[in-house]
Amino acid sequence: MKDYKAITQQYEIDVYPRRDVVLVRGKGARVWDDQGNEYIDMAAGISVANVGHSNDKVVEAISKQAATLITCPNTFYNDTKAIFLEKLFSIAPKNLTKAFLTNSGTEAIEAAIKFARLNTKKTKFIAAMKGFHGRTMGALSATYKKEYREGFEPLVPGFSFVPFNNFEKLAEAVDDDTAGIILEPIQGEGGINIGQKEYFQKVRQLCNEKNILLIIDEIQTGFCRTGKMFAIEYLGIEADMMTLAKSIAGGFPMGALLCSDKIAVEKSKHGSTFGGNPLACAAGIAAIDFMLENKLWEQAEAKGKYFKEKLEKHPLSKVREIRIIGLMIGIELKDKSQPVILELLNHKILSLPAGTTVLRMLPPLVISYEDLDTVIEILVKVLA
Ligand SMILES: *Cc1c(COP(=O)(O)O)cnc(C)c1O
Repeated sequence: MKDYKAITQQYEIDVYPRRDVVLVRGKGARVWDDQGNEYIDMAAGISVANVGHSNDKVVEAISKQAATLITCPNTFYNDTKAIFLEKLFSIAPKNLTKAFLTNSGTEAIEAAIKFARLNTKKTKFIAAMKGFHGRTMGALSATYKKEYREGFEPLVPGFSFVPFNNFEKLAEAVDDDTAGIILEPIQGEGGINIGQKEYFQKVRQLCNEKNILLIIDEIQTGFCRTGKMFAIEYLGIEADMMTLAKSIAGGFPMGALLCSDKIAVEKSKHGSTFGGNPLACAAGIAAIDFMLENKLWEQAEAKGKYFKEKLEKHPLSKVREIRIIGLMIGIELKDKSQPVILELLNHKILSLPAGTTVLRMLPPLVISYEDLDTVIEILVKVLA
């Protein structure tokens, strides 16, 4: 057998803090390494595999589309893309009526930034401290974390940051040149910080008064993760633009920016070679169909509730706070999360950090109750 780890280390730029495991296969909420070890995946590729790894429907759709038409320039119409758009808008918030399709989350954010400037003729943006919106220059400018920004400045000018869930501070930051406010409904990378309904309602009101576009980043929270199809349903507000990616196409790379009627973009002002290609669209149709047929949001809500109630029955001396919404799980520890993540890996459980002290779990929403029980059992030991 080849030494995959050594080959990767030789040839790939080493930007990822890496675990010492070579994953080669996945099914549902389980993944396997090249030694034949089996893991419960409480990361799902960072909320990518919501419908489960190698979901049968998604596999079939990609295989069929691959044998039919893999690529199609966006200057032509395509049957699969049309069906995907229709499907996407059948589940999207009703005020969002048009989409720009991308290959990733960060590209959806880039489009939102460009469209906001174009439509408001203003230039500035406000984002939240601890927020994460991506790594390309525009999205990075909206991302708070210093380590991600350092060394790349000057970023796009005009971005400022305010504390999340603090309306007064946000209102103070607004001026006549504010084009957009970019917020996650629940901060993912930032530590599973749950947005308050009253806060978002006031932000919406402010945006209306000042002619500011509200951009809601649902890249991590979207597609049933939080117990709703989209987390914005908890907030009782409408977004002017909403960004999607991660789980949109069952694991296939894809993103989308959804826009309300306030947004108009002229021909040739923006574009993408691969965005909305037939393979991604076929995968997206299958993934959304699977979510609808299995009421995946209900599963996320029920399983998240089960997980929370069962975990909280136990004394967890290492834990400061547990924040769970659907199957978006944040366990804030009193100390760093990295040693706990490594210990869980030794117990064959994949998990994620969010910031330095939060243990983040985003399992495939199809995970079984038996697997959740196993995870809880081990967590109770590790966090005692
Ligand atoms: C992952 C993520 C992004 C960036 O998506 P990429 O596909 O990695 O570019 C943006 N916003 C949020 C909230 C995310 O979780």
